Amino acid sequence: MESQVFTLGGRPRRGAPYTVQSAPGAACDPPRPVRALRVTEVRVDGLVRNVAAGCCVYALALASMASAMAQEGVDPAATQTDPAHAEEIDAARRLFETNLDAIRRKDRAAYLATYLNSTTLARTGANGVRLGFTEHEAQTAGDSWPDVFDARDVRLVRLRPGVVYGLYRYRVTYGFDEHAGISERVIVSTPQGWRIAVTSAFDAPPGTPPPPFALTGATLIDGTGSPPLQDAVVIVRGGRIECAGTRDACPPPADVESLDLSGKWIVPGIVDAHVHFSQTGWVDGRPDAIDVRDQHPYEHVQSRLQQEPEHFFRAYLGSGVTAVFDVGGYAWTWTLRDSTRTDAPHVAASGPLLSTREFWLNQPGEQQFIHIADAEAARSAVRYLAANRSDAVKVWFIPDSAVAFENLALAVLAAGEEARTYRLPLIVHATGLREAKVALQAGAHLLVHSVDDQLVDDEFVDLARGSEVVYCPTLTVVDGYARLYQSALARESPRVDDPHACVDSLTLAHVAETAELDVAEPERLESVIERLTQRREVMRTNLRRLQAAGVGIAMGTDAGNPLTLHGPSVYAEMEAMQAAGLSALDVLVAATRGGARAMRREQELGSIEAGKIADLLVVDADPSIDIRNMRQLSRVMRGGELRAVGEFRRR
Ligand SMILES: [Zn+2]
Repeated sequence: MESQVFTLGGRPRRGAPYTVQSAPGAACDPPRPVRALRVTEVRVDGLVRNVAAGCCVYALALASMASAMAQEGVDPAATQTDPAHAEEIDAARRLFETNLDAIRRKDRAAYLATYLNSTTLARTGANGVRLGFTEHEAQTAGDSWPDVFDARDVRLVRLRPGVVYGLYRYRVTYGFDEHAGISERVIVSTPQGWRIAVTSAFDAPPGTPPPPFALTGATLIDGTGSPPLQDAVVIVRGGRIECAGTRDACPPPADVESLDLSGKWIVPGIVDAHVHFSQTGWVDGRPDAIDVRDQHPYEHVQSRLQQEPEHFFRAYLGSGVTAVFDVGGYAWTWTLRDSTRTDAPHVAASGPLLSTREFWLNQPGEQQFIHIADAEAARSAVRYLAANRSDAVKVWFIPDSAVAFENLALAVLAAGEEARTYRLPLIVHATGLREAKVALQAGAHLLVHSVDDQLVDDEFVDLARGSEVVYCPTLTVVDGYARLYQSALARESPRVDDPHACVDSLTLAHVAETAELDVAEPERLESVIERLTQRREVMRTNLRRLQAAGVGIAMGTDAGNPLTLHGPSVYAEMEAMQAAGLSALDVLVAATRGGARAMRREQELGSIEAGKIADLLVVDADPSIDIRNMRQLSRVMRGGELRAVGEFRRR
């Protein structure tokens, strides 16, 4: 028999979407007395899977119904002209939907009732073929249901009277484990009604882009600063934006699943340009605030952070953050960049940071702070970062009363010069105006804090305007410290601002433990709180001035610091920027395109424009009139994969 191409839902056409290619095959070697008809390939848009492992799908289907299909050959086009065609497709679809719905509802009885109660019931997947209803029944246990079950794009084709082949795209999660791929059913007509005779599931290879999508009807705020566009269409294919604009400019293609989002807003994914994965969001990751190393050994904390970054990844996505810039931490933070997963944010990382001050918060044999005592130490530290393909050079520019400021400045300038040699962007932590000016002279690409000791002057504004620098005001991290100390003094658990409940339970338990912390010097802490609050007005005024001067602004939280939790801290930070006097739209641009610029990934991230990676959010209220509406997040798309925000709720 010649090999055949079945195009699901349409006429057979080689190379078209949804084709199942079959050919008689010896390699399959199905269990007897099954006749071999080998499925060689299933094509679903860009996804081509070799179904060698599933080669018996058809063969078993045929066995189940004692068909002579392999001998006769099949002409699906001919079966479509049969008057019973539509009726049978409808009946099979209803059974298929009942089956999928039972999985969604975790309804074991309803699920099993959709299968053929026979010894020839076949289930196949990456681990080979298993036969029989009894075994299927035994294996359908209470704990086998996925936490998330997303079934899309159900397609059916009638192979011959009484036999319908269908497939759908699945995405399932079990804990942190997510799989996506194609699942098939062969549905047959029996005296008891339509039943599934064959079922399969095959994961797509890692990195396979999600299926195409057309999002229609929403108001689009594209992140470029353009005014909101009503009744827009965003077409996503291969994980990227294919088209974004009016219905005329971007007509939804007929063969692409579309989702009506009328009454909602689409905005780019949020970029947090200032985070630290080496810190927890509580004092155990930063024991210089309050030392808890006796109860929470620092080495254990670091090891946990390195081993389970998924907790923070989920908190970011569940808060609408699709990209983050880790601007200082242990060398392992570089490995966070490698993932191709779409259930994690994009990560850029600057690795260990160069510090003008000798700082003790390191581990034996591992540094996150490299002391740059002089220019040569700074240069050699930059070379170390370059050799590790760091995304940037981060300098912690903290004045030290024991060392002349000029000497510290020389080290920072040398770091900037060496960074240019290796084409690495320079990031500087500088909160004093004097340090921030040196940072700009050193060629800083990103300032990750506000100037908070005094109002910026004309010299600073001119330096900033004449450069490519992005200013990330990081307004609220100091509030975290203040709230931490206040809670500890009052023996209260701090309030947690986590509208989508995506912060993990261990972090929450630690935050609650604040109430039991012993504060060594209450008077000193009170003065710290006072100083932190005084600086707020300076930071706000400086932000307004730099925004008005046209300096690039990014949003960044400094997440990981005490009570600045990874993920939901972005809401307070964006709201603080609005409260400082920026318009909601300005804040949105800073929190999207501004962050992409800070990460030097503006070509791919930060706005909803053709060619960019499809990272976007669906929001149920208008964030362009009030940035607080960003809390009304309902869906998160990352790399073209659309998820309900509820998927990231802690379990
Ligand atoms: Zn920081």
